[in-house]
Amino acid sequence: MKKQLREMVVQRFPYRCPYCDQPLSYESYSLKVGENEIVCPFCKKKFIKVIFKEISLKKIKRIAPKRKNNPQ
Ligand SMILES: [Zn+2]
Repeated sequence: MKKQLREMVVQRFPYRCPYCDQPLSYESYSLKVGENEIVCPFCKKKFIKVIFKEISLKKIKRIAPKRKNNPQ
């Protein structure tokens, strides 16, 4: 089950725009649980990013310090 958590974290950041397929960094957005309106900086189109309760920021912070390849 811990492996699944890591995969969810990895998938969360290198997300791509559904319209132009450019990689987006959601770190610049303040995402909340529920629907988040995202405007793609490349094609300027809006889409909805849904954040589920299972993906909580607390879980991500616990895993992040162990990842030495994290660019932050
Ligand atoms: Zn786009």
